[in-house]
Amino acid sequence: MIEGLRKVRDLSTGSGRAGKVAARFSPVPQVAQGTPSRRPEPGTPLHQARNDGMAMAHDKTQPAVVLLSGGLDSATTAAIARREGFRLFALSVDYGQRHRFELDAARRVARSLGAAEHRVLTIDLGSLGGSALTDDIAVPQDRGQDEMSTGIPITYVPARNTILLAVALGYAEVIRAADVFIGVNAVDYSGYPDCRPEFIASFERLANLATKAGVEGALQFRIHAPLLRLAKAEIIRRGVELGVDYRLTHTCYAPDARGTPCGRCDACQIRLKGFDDAGLTDPVQYQSQ
Ligand SMILES: [Zn+2]
Repeated sequence: MIEGLRKVRDLSTGSGRAGKVAARFSPVPQVAQGTPSRRPEPGTPLHQARNDGMAMAHDKTQPAVVLLSGGLDSATTAAIARREGFRLFALSVDYGQRHRFELDAARRVARSLGAAEHRVLTIDLGSLGGSALTDDIAVPQDRGQDEMSTGIPITYVPARNTILLAVALGYAEVIRAADVFIGVNAVDYSGYPDCRPEFIASFERLANLATKAGVEGALQFRIHAPLLRLAKAEIIRRGVELGVDYRLTHTCYAPDARGTPCGRCDACQIRLKGFDDAGLTDPVQYQSQ
């Protein structure tokens, strides 16, 4: 697992593992729309104010690390960060998901939102197992609403968001970004303990006591979870307002060999219901269509 932390993969320069580069946090600039490829310029670490992250006007050069999974929530989160005036430094983690489509989607989303940079780190959580997303365990399908909203699902990846935020925090400290965005949601995924407000608040405290920049006062880290209390339909409406192209995103836990979503796993059902509740049609094609 530690070895995996040292590997940076740039999906924009190749497909699959051929694109992997053994390097530790070496910048992997991505050519984004209207943004020249270059090393990240450290932002001014002046974000000291405690606010809800929505009202404050930020300097356009203010960098933020955005965790980008390739799914609908993280794409919307990235669009919100961009709207708030941040320069996006997207971070995706290849943690041993059973398919690559999520990471391909993350690359597309980062490009479409004009991210200054997109890094992909490999951390092999699959070697730990314990989840239907990383282990040889069947992804449940066709579960009813009651079943989906009860208990912690088998698709829970042990300590995933703690690990993702820890890596994002390290990235943020390196590029001197005080702000980290994560698209967790406590409404539709109430069964995940690391999607709760208490978790986000706890991690923010940890970030400020666990880092050199935090202890020395150079940065006051803030963990933004703008979707935390939004229903899926609200997230989708917000994303549409911000111009998110949801065709680029990938949500399904059990896609076919071409990446076509199943429409039956929990993630697909929650997504489809979200579009339905929003009065919109999901632009993505499903296997049953
Ligand atoms: Zn699915």
